Amino acid sequence: MSILVTRSAMPDFDEYCEEIRDLWDTRWLTNNGSKLKQLSTQLSAYLQSDCVQLFTNGHLALESLLKAMDLHGEVITTPFTFASTVHAIVRCGLTPVFCDIRPEDYTLNPDLLEGLITQRTCAILPVHVYGTLCDTQAIDRIAGRYHLPVIYDAAHAFGVTRGGVSAARLGYASMFSFHATKVYHTIEGGCVATQDRALCERLALEGNYGITGPEDTVLVGGNAKMNEFQAAMGLCNLRHLEGWIAERAAVSRLYDEALADCESLIIRKPQANVQSNYAYYPVYCKGGKAHRDRVFAALEKQDIHARKYFYPLITDFACYRDTFRSADTPVARQAADSILTLPLYPDLPPESAAHIAAIVREASHE
Ligand SMILES: *Cc1c(COP(=O)(O)O)cnc(C)c1O
Repeated sequence: MSILVTRSAMPDFDEYCEEIRDLWDTRWLTNNGSKLKQLSTQLSAYLQSDCVQLFTNGHLALESLLKAMDLHGEVITTPFTFASTVHAIVRCGLTPVFCDIRPEDYTLNPDLLEGLITQRTCAILPVHVYGTLCDTQAIDRIAGRYHLPVIYDAAHAFGVTRGGVSAARLGYASMFSFHATKVYHTIEGGCVATQDRALCERLALEGNYGITGPEDTVLVGGNAKMNEFQAAMGLCNLRHLEGWIAERAAVSRLYDEALADCESLIIRKPQANVQSNYAYYPVYCKGGKAHRDRVFAALEKQDIHARKYFYPLITDFACYRDTFRSADTPVARQAADSILTLPLYPDLPPESAAHIAAIVREASHE
C-alpha cells in the first residue's frame, strides 16, 4: 500500500456530524458564527494569546497581518520556507530581503541579521521551520535596537512551547496554518495570534472587506473569513490534538532510534526546554543532492512518498530567480538540496516507520 508523506488526522464521522448539527437550525454558516466564536476562545486559551483572529487559510492570515501593520519597504525573511511566506510579502507590495539560515536547525541566522537591515527595513519575518523555534532572544535583541517588529511564520509550530510558553507569545504577532496537512487543522484555515488588541480589530476588518457596520466600510479589506464548517472541524480536532501529538512523538522516536547511528545522515536534535509538536521528520543527507535524491528514489520505488521539503529553494523559483540569488544564502541552498522529510502522521504504523528507516539507511550506505 502506498504511504504518503502525511495523512490528515480526523475526528470520528459522528463527532463531526454532531458538531455541525445546529448549523441546520441556525442557518448561520459564516461571518462570525457561534462555532467560530467558540473556536477563537478555545484557541486563545490553548495558544496563551490575548487575541486570536481566525482566517480561511494561513496564507491570507499572513497577508492580512502584513496589510494590517501598514508596512512599506523591505521585510527580512528566509528563503528556506514554503512559497506562502515570500509570496505574502511580495503580494503586499513589500520587498523580501533574504537572510541565510543556521546549519544546525535551519532557522534564520541572527548573526547575519544586522548586516541586512537598511533604512527601508520595516519588519522581520522569521519562520519556525519544521516546528523548530527560532533563536527568538537573539532576533528580538537586534530588532529592538532598530525598533523593528518581529512577526513569525509559525505555520509549523502549533502546539510548540518553550519553558511552558506558547510559540504564539514570541514576537509581535504569529501566523499559524490549519491546513489539512498540518499538525492541527480546520480543513483549510489559519490564524494570527497577538497580544495587541488594536491589531486584532484591524485584522478582523482586513478579513471582511473593512466593513464596520451595515452602513460603513472603513478600509479596503479582502475576504478571508473562516466559515462555520471549518470552525466545527477545528473544535473537534482540538479535543484530539494531545493524543495525535503523542502518536507523532512515538513515530519520531522510532525514526530516531533506527537512524541515530547512520553516519551519513543528520537527524534533528531536540531543542532544550522545548516541547515539540513533531510536525515533520527532516533528514539531512550529508552526501548532498545525489544522496538525497537516491534516498527519495529508493522510497518511491516502494511506493513510499517522502517530500523534498523545501526544494527548490524559493529564490530558484521561476518567478523569483531573475530577481534574487540563491548563492547569497548558501546554507539554505545546501539544505534545499540535502533534506528529505519522511512520512509522519499519527496513525503511521510502527512497522511502516521501521520499513521506511531501513530503506533510508540502505540507500545511504550505497
Ligand atoms: C502551510 C504553510 C503556510 C500557508 O498556510 P496555508 O494554510 O496553507 O495557507 C505558510 N507558511 C508555511 C511555512 C507553511 O508551511
